[in-house]
Amino acid sequence: MHIVICGGGVIGASAAYFLSARGAHVTVIERCAVACAASGKSGGFLALDWNDHSPLSALARRSFELHGELAERLDADWGYRRVETLSVAASQQRALSRPGSTAALPGWIGDGTVLQGELGSPETTAQVDPGLFTKAMMDAAIVLGARLIIGTVDGVRVDTGGKTVTGIIAGGQTIDADAVLIAMGPWSALASQWLPLPPVYGLKGNSLVFRPKHDFSAHAIFADVETGDGEVLSPEIYPRPDGTVYVCGLSSEQPLPIDPADVLPEPGRSERLRTLAGAIAPGLLDAELIADQACYRPVTANGLPMIGPLSAVSGAYVATGHSVWGILNAPATGEALADLILDGEARVDLTAFDPGRF
Ligand SMILES: Cc1cc2nc3c(=O)[nH]c(=O)nc-3n(C[C@H](O)[C@H](O)[C@H](O)COP(=O)(O)OP(=O)(O)OC[C@H]3O[C@@H](n4cnc5c(N)ncnc54)[C@H](O)[C@@H]3O)c2cc1C
Repeated sequence: MHIVICGGGVIGASAAYFLSARGAHVTVIERCAVACAASGKSGGFLALDWNDHSPLSALARRSFELHGELAERLDADWGYRRVETLSVAASQQRALSRPGSTAALPGWIGDGTVLQGELGSPETTAQVDPGLFTKAMMDAAIVLGARLIIGTVDGVRVDTGGKTVTGIIAGGQTIDADAVLIAMGPWSALASQWLPLPPVYGLKGNSLVFRPKHDFSAHAIFADVETGDGEVLSPEIYPRPDGTVYVCGLSSEQPLPIDPADVLPEPGRSERLRTLAGAIAPGLLDAELIADQACYRPVTANGLPMIGPLSAVSGAYVATGHSVWGILNAPATGEALADLILDGEARVDLTAFDPGRF
């Protein structure tokens, strides 16, 4: 069975790995480079139980488990580690009073920052470098026989009755396929011209990667910062095992460009985000800036991903809309897709993610 996966982000790469591991014949077509979009520019934060009490619970729990298993199983290092996760607050206009104990605050957190609570422990929270993880999944799929083509998918071919997928069109060439998976992140919206696909949107986020002069410990920080004009913004800070520190937290509503290579950070955002993060971690104020970037996370109308077949066209599948949890949920999504495409049924209940719900 030949499966063509459109998109080489974390969802496409994870599906490629789990399908290839089951012996399927897989081709991935990626427009720019593996992990060139959100999958290479996100935080890479993982949580076991933050989606409990939502339809994502089983998928997220399975995926958290798979992240740990993959880090042991595959011979590659993508910065997987367990972390302490804290909620903190700081103000750029007044002194906040510190609670009695500051024991849980790491040394790189500034004096004016207060601890609001412990959000996760190494038993429940972890991190990866998402770009390295995505590339490692694709590399592992290639070792198992998958093929990666850098090219743009321009269409999906169906039979004369329009009821069954027969292949895709990329760069004017047709590639035959028994099944096609649309996993183009927010660009999956383009596939609605080819298949009856519900809407997918892109929400832009800006992020920075620093190399500070001193080591930062393995803590993930969710902060609330009161700015000089009274606004409260929420930067997230993720030190990585390679000595770099990732920061995100400023989103915006710019339209999605058709070409992923045209996604650029907005002028002025970089300095604003550095100042915000520096209010929590002063060591970032004079740290070397090694990436100033932006990306779009894919979202659906009800905030839950779409994972499953498009019932009107046999052989057509979609996996997108993972929003802020795409890195966390990629392994279980890939595993579930392999089950679904090869066996007709997934081990995780995908009912809430049925594309037909819209
Ligand atoms: C600022 C920010 C921080 C985040 N932090 C986290 C986090 O800490 N933890 C977490 O779990 N999630 C996080 N996320 C969410 C996560 O990054 C996304 O959900 C995930 O990366 C989406 O992966 P994807 O494979 O669906 O899409 P993408 O990564 O967008 O991949 C889609 C791919 O399709 C390709 N493509 C597009 N058009 C075509 C075409 N016509 N033909 C072929 N290929 C095409 C693109 O080039 C791209 O490589 C964050 C997101 C943002 C924006």
